[in-house]
Amino acid sequence: MTPTGMGPEDWVDKNGNLVYDPSLNDGKGGFTEHATNTDKNIARSLRQTKTGEEQFQKLVNSDAEIQIELDSKSEIKTNPKNGEVIVGETQNYELGLDAKTGDITVSKSKIVLFEKTIDAVVDATETQDIKFEGESINGLNFSEVLGSVVAHEIEYTTNENERTARKNEDTETIPKLIQVKMIKELKENKR
Ligand SMILES: [Zn+2]
Repeated sequence: MTPTGMGPEDWVDKNGNLVYDPSLNDGKGGFTEHATNTDKNIARSLRQTKTGEEQFQKLVNSDAEIQIELDSKSEIKTNPKNGEVIVGETQNYELGLDAKTGDITVSKSKIVLFEKTIDAVVDATETQDIKFEGESINGLNFSEVLGSVVAHEIEYTTNENERTARKNEDTETIPKLIQVKMIKELKENKR
């Protein structure tokens, strides 16, 4: 178990065990014995571009405990309000206060990625032009789309994003910008 309230908590599994330790391998970072193949695939998908790598570093150096679940059971998820598919969800479920500034801090977060929905989005690119915020994702494979989704979701776990939510401002703006940037980089990688 990772002790809480004692500095960096980072990426953990559902039992609170550290998945990736940035201090391993002489500070280059590495997976712990608790990392599963799914965890490693998620990390690989994320670390394919510069922006993905930046998000990965936010994940593994976060002051919050962040859990990532790849849900392979749930059927295709859509938002009943606008019919859009839901590829991932993030909840900050424990908050704290910065002792110095009194600002809200995130202590625990959980990211859930919906495998069947992401699969369906990737399948749809074979017959349609699928866009995210105006940026086509056609030509990207499952791992690449997954990486862009994780990059988006990690942004919600930041203190900045939680503070944006508290001010009733749009919490989607930055995650969307990050995802679009990563999609562009993934396409650039293929040229
Ligand atoms: Zn979002």
